[in-house]
Parts: sequence; C-alpha cells; structure tokens
Amino acid sequence: MDISYIINELAEDRENYFNAIAPPIIQSSNFAFKTVNQMRNAFADEYATYLYSRGLNPTVDILRKKLAALDNAEDCLVFNSGAAAIFAAVLANVKSGDHIVSVKNPYTWAQKMFNVILPRFGVTTSYIDGREIENFERAILPNTTVIYLESPNSWDYALQDLKAVADLAKAENIITIIDNSYCTPIYQRPLDYGIDLTLQSATKYIGGHSDTVAGVLSGSSKMIERIFNSEYMNIGSGISPFNAWLLIRGLRTLPMRLQHITQTTTKVINYLNQHNKVEAVLFPFDESFPQYALAKQQMQGACGLLTFIIKADTVEQIEKFCNNLQHILMAVSWGGHESLIIPKCAGFVASQFNPQHKEHRMLRLYVGLEEADYIIKD
Ligand SMILES: *Cc1c(COP(=O)(O)O)cnc(C)c1O
Repeated sequence: MDISYIINELAEDRENYFNAIAPPIIQSSNFAFKTVNQMRNAFADEYATYLYSRGLNPTVDILRKKLAALDNAEDCLVFNSGAAAIFAAVLANVKSGDHIVSVKNPYTWAQKMFNVILPRFGVTTSYIDGREIENFERAILPNTTVIYLESPNSWDYALQDLKAVADLAKAENIITIIDNSYCTPIYQRPLDYGIDLTLQSATKYIGGHSDTVAGVLSGSSKMIERIFNSEYMNIGSGISPFNAWLLIRGLRTLPMRLQHITQTTTKVINYLNQHNKVEAVLFPFDESFPQYALAKQQMQGACGLLTFIIKADTVEQIEKFCNNLQHILMAVSWGGHESLIIPKCAGFVASQFNPQHKEHRMLRLYVGLEEADYIIKD
C-alpha cells in the first residue's frame, strides 16, 4: 500500500463525519445499542463492536488501520505507552515454567519486566549478544517460547539478523517479538522478514512532537485478537481517543520529518567524525559501524539517534560540555522536534567515572528538526 495513501486516506470515512478533513475525537466511554440482540452480540464479541472505549473506539480505529498498514501487518493495537505494548506482547506468549531468550540491554522497562516481574511467575530470561545467530541457537531451551529482539538497540545500535532469527524461531516453534522503535515502519518492517510481533514506542517518531506517550503492537489478526481479548482489555492500557488523534496528526508528517532528520543527522555525524575531541561515533549507517552491511540490508534508513564518545579525562569535562549547550536539551526520549542529549555519566554517581571505560564517555544525541548548522554550532 502506498505510504501517502495510508497517511492521508486509509480508514478516513469523511462522509460519516460532515466531510471534515480532520477526523473527530470520539471522546465517549461507552456506546448505545438499539436492541437487546445488538447488545448481546456485542457482549459475545467485543472485538467486533463499539461497546466501551477500554476496548474499541472509532478514533483509535482510524489510527490502528493506518499503523497496521505501515507495519504491513494484518492488525495492531495501540497502547498508552510503548512499555505497555512490550508488556502485553510478552505476557501473552508466556506461562509459568517458560523461558525467554532476549538480546542483552533491551529497553530499561523490558529488562525490569524480565528481571523483576516475570520471575515471580516462574518465567526466566537468558540475555545474549544478538549480533551472532549462533548465540540464539545456543540459548534456546526446550521450554523457550519467546525470542525478544531490539534492532537496532537504542544506545549501541547492535543489530540482529531478522530473517535468520525468524527462520530459526519458526523451526523451533518460538514466537519472535521485536522493539522497532529506532526505525519506525518507515525504515524497517520486521514482519516482512518473518518476525511475529513488532512493537514501537509511538511516543518517539510517530507522535513526533514530544506531547504524547503511546505504543503500537502489530501482528497477525489471530494473535492481535487474542491479545485484545486478554492482556489489552485486562491491563486496560489502551490509548485515549485524544492521544490517538494526536498520533494521526503526527503521522501526516512522519515521512518528511524522517527525511529531514536523516539529512541533518548525516551532516552532524560528518562534523563529529572530524572533530579532534571525538573518539568515535556509533551509528548504524556510518561506514565504520561493525554491522553496517547488515544495517544496509534490512533497514531502509537510519536517522536521528546516534552515540558519540568524547575524549575526556574527568567527568567534569563531560558535564561542562553538556551544561553549556544552548539549544540541545538534556532530556530523555527522542523522536520529537527538539534535539536532545543524554550523557551516560548521568546514570551513575560522578565518583565512579573511569575514563578508561568508553561507555562512561558516551553521549547519546538525538538530532531533531532544527537545521544542521544550528545543532553543530551548539
Ligand atoms: C521509549 C522507548 C520505549 C518505551 O516507550 P514508552 O512510550 O516510553 O513507554 C521502548 N523501547 C525503546 C527503544 C524506547 O526508546
């Protein structure tokens, strides 16, 4: 399906709402029935009817159809955070006694789920270096039911070979789930490689304006309907109609925002690469990146998020650099209009800084919608 069609037309039945260009926000918790029989049918299958907005909602449905089409998926669910999408996807595919193989250092709250919540229910997780397919083969146990991926990782951009992992998992009857937040479906469509479930934090590029927290989970109709009828309804973490509307608005400009950010990021990286205080730049589409070939093979683009390692002997030098930035904001998240930075050293007490550890000198930069020169000057 044409991306322009998905973004501008798909699921927009304008004749049903006064030919308005912008879709309405159906800010209603519940929906009425004309007959007992209609109500009975709705109770019997909530996935087929508007009954209550913790389940289906018309504004959210417009968004769902667009996001599923972008992922080349049969269906999707939209959550009120990316973390909720991760939780529902994993919870739906494990039971007591099961085992998960996860790439190491996935998103923080995925790790907390694997390390803190799931062990309480007898579900264990092995972390592996996902850059080598052999590590997956070695880690799979008879009770492994889920392989959890994040490609690229959002700090060191480690990739997994999606096709190879999907093939392996299918042969072993294991469900594959990927966090695709870095790429968005514009730059990577994991389902096309045989991955079962793809999710992303829509807080990032989909929303695009740093004003909404949301998550998307896409897959087969069968799997998505099953998750709707259990985890989605039970956790009650569906997106609100207003936030769904903000995401529909964000989608209108998604490809052009990514395009602009991709161009700007290239200029910023070229600048950083020749700077004498910069030791290295980590970015999947940089020719020096160890998995550059795989990145080029399975991703249509890379943008915005990069990590650079600066030369510093003391933590004060890094702090001085960050504290003196005039335009680039120090904040978590990414994907919005504004450039952002997080120094790794903000994650530990300053006295533990050791310049020998490269990671301690890492700065994660998100290149926003500003002009390249503006960011470079800062
Ligand atoms: C932000 C983020 C999430 C979590 O999404 P929220 O919308 O913040 O809940 C998950 N994975 C990655 C890679 C992220 O960057």
